[in-house]
Amino acid sequence: MNAECPECGGTITLAADVLDGEIVPCQDCGADLEVVSVSPVVLALAPEVEEDWGE
Ligand SMILES: [Zn+2]
Repeated sequence: MNAECPECGGTITLAADVLDGEIVPCQDCGADLEVVSVSPVVLALAPEVEEDWGE
C-alpha cells in the first residue's frame, strides 16, 4: 500500500494493516506523518511533539 508524502511528495510504503492514527516516517524527508484515513489512505504531517515536557 502506497501513499504520497504531503511534505515532499515522496512515496510512502505502508503496511497492509496500517491503522488510523498511526505515525509513519517519511524515508525521503524524515517527516512524521499521521495516517488520518486508511480507505483511501490519507497522510498528514503529524504535529511535532516535544517529549521532554519535564515536571
Ligand atoms: Zn517526505
